[in-house]
Amino acid sequence: MNHDVIVLGAGLAGLAAARDLAAGGADVLVVEARDRVGGRVEQTGLADGRLVQLGGEVVGRAHTAYTALAAELDLTLVPSYVAEPGALARATPEGVRAGDPPHWFGPGDDAVHRQATAAFASLARTVDPGDPWSHPDAAALDRLSVGAWLRSRGATAAVVRLWEIGRLALADGSCERTSLLAALRKHAAVPGPVPYDYEAWEGLRVAEGSATVALRMAEGLAGRIRTGAPVEAVAVRGPRGCSVRLAGGETLTAGAVVSALPAGPLRSVAVTGVRDERLASLHRQRHALAAKFVAVYDAPFWRERGLSGLSECEGVLGSTWPQSEGILSALVPPERYGVLLAAPAALRTPELLAEIARLYGDEAHHPLATYLRLWGTDPWTQGYVTQWTPGDVMAVGPLHGTHEPPFYVCGSDQWVAGYMEGAVRTGRDAAREALSRG
Ligand SMILES: Cc1cc2nc3c(=O)[nH]c(=O)nc-3n(C[C@H](O)[C@H](O)[C@H](O)COP(=O)(O)OP(=O)(O)OC[C@H]3O[C@@H](n4cnc5c(N)ncnc54)[C@H](O)[C@@H]3O)c2cc1C
Repeated sequence: MNHDVIVLGAGLAGLAAARDLAAGGADVLVVEARDRVGGRVEQTGLADGRLVQLGGEVVGRAHTAYTALAAELDLTLVPSYVAEPGALARATPEGVRAGDPPHWFGPGDDAVHRQATAAFASLARTVDPGDPWSHPDAAALDRLSVGAWLRSRGATAAVVRLWEIGRLALADGSCERTSLLAALRKHAAVPGPVPYDYEAWEGLRVAEGSATVALRMAEGLAGRIRTGAPVEAVAVRGPRGCSVRLAGGETLTAGAVVSALPAGPLRSVAVTGVRDERLASLHRQRHALAAKFVAVYDAPFWRERGLSGLSECEGVLGSTWPQSEGILSALVPPERYGVLLAAPAALRTPELLAEIARLYGDEAHHPLATYLRLWGTDPWTQGYVTQWTPGDVMAVGPLHGTHEPPFYVCGSDQWVAGYMEGAVRTGRDAAREALSRG
């Protein structure tokens, strides 16, 4: 059967694109490899009624595409863990301490850190997040790592360490392997008083559950989604002729294709009829590999120690934060993902719980349930969020996030830094573009 549009992937981006295409009158079909929708947003329910988020969880006030969609879907945005009382804890080999400045800072480090932060924010104001390539020093800024730039500004080892623990807490790439231009672009997209202001990026969550955003969109698309249907090949044959081959050999046809696949899985799909430059740009994108660990408790026992549950760590875990009452989320950053995989499977959970116990006390050893989701090695994600190593912004180039009708692209990778905002924003943009071309 011929469709107007086939959307590849039923994550937030693909669903948002399909929803708008259907609302615009298009006959749309979504094909999804997994047997569920949502992609990197996924949730499971506990017997006591609490929901556990295994993927994307929080958004910020600046994430306007996502917050607008949540409102359209009649979902409620409430303050996230950022509003939790108590101090942030930092765990390093030397010890665990709460509050600022970090325990490894010596005299003068705090002032250097504040100067570097101000210089970063000021430089970020010179970058257009929609067009970082137009910056007069784009190539030089892209070649430089954040770590090298910090040292060039006189940052001490203690200050670089604070920036590094902050980046790995987000499961982002190391300062030493992140393009300065990419980091500036991310800050320019959601400006705040400090790089990655938690309130601006993570101050809200959907009360009904983050993955409910995807589930509710899928309900509205009933009958238009095929799960268990991995795409193997896409052929663009002309201005209004595309075909999509599924695993097993079935071929579907459509007037247009919207790819909403993550960077890694997209590299395995044979795409023909699209310019080589576009494929080179898409294939050059990469992800930070991360894992998410969740431990469920009766109650948030960390509060008894005056702690918020938010931490930045130098163990295998990069961070913890409370996702909801008594439920603690944690991320394993890319720099430590290999260490996690090297641990015998039976030891992973007890070792991660021991890291949480070091932060918050022995109660951590006795969760009601735990979940370890290895997103970095999941075949249909192969990552976590977009990662830009030095040179990547220029190599991906200004084709980033653009379309070649009738081949459209969307997905969080097509925004500055990944994230649910990027998925929704680019999904809706792709639908608008496709509808505008009939
Ligand atoms: C652990 C974790 C925590 C996160 N936390 C946050 C957070 O708190 N806030 C935030 O904003 N963002 C967060 N993110 C990022 C956010 O979840 C993602 O950026 C966003 O959900 C991606 O949406 P997407 O539609 O672009 O891609 P995806 O959700 O990855 O959707 C792509 C879909 O394509 C499917 N697919 C792949 N290959 C094929 C194929 N060959 N054929 C057919 N289908 C295919 C996949 O199965 C998937 O369903 C987190 C991500 C992870 C993994």
